[in-house]
Amino acid sequence: MLDFERLEALASEVGFTHVAPLDAATIVLRDEVRDMCVANTCGAYGKNWSCPPACGELPALREQVGRYRAGILVQTVGEVEDSLDFEGMMEAEAEHKRHFAELHEKLLEQWPNLLALGAGTCTRCAKCTYPDAPCRFPDKRVSSMEAYGMLVVDTCKANGMEYYYGPQAIAYTSCFLLE
Ligand code: SF4
Repeated sequence: MLDFERLEALASEVGFTHVAPLDAATIVLRDEVRDMCVANTCGAYGKNWSCPPACGELPALREQVGRYRAGILVQTVGEVEDSLDFEGMMEAEAEHKRHFAELHEKLLEQWPNLLALGAGTCTRCAKCTYPDAPCRFPDKRVSSMEAYGMLVVDTCKANGMEYYYGPQAIAYTSCFLLE
């Protein structure tokens, strides 16, 4: 059984503002979310090994997620002036990615087979090698929760975590499936 208090302390130490236990049984991987990837509003579809279609088809991803029982949800909530404050959003996202990478390293020491799902496409390399060459860091590559078909707001709600913190806040959410 996971020691949530210890995990919460670790996640808070690296800078996450919110942490919640994640019950893997609440996770639903939806075709509709993947359809949103195909619509390519983020511009990453078909451009990165961590995103669809390269990250795998839903049946295989369901099988992978189905091997886990529990983990944690982590969030970085940043301040923004309003919904057009793109600079504030990018700062909060960069901060979230730093927190995520740091916690990922720490958790791998105890759970080498964990599944880490982040926020946004993999940005480890300045330019992804997809599709011309293999991924440079297959062990460090991280897909987003959405790339796996998760509706983040539903996963948060089902696990007692807020998703919306008002018009002057932006929340980035990721998760680690551990056991
Ligand atoms: S590690 Fe580099 S090559 Fe691999 S998915 Fe991420 S950006 Fe692309």
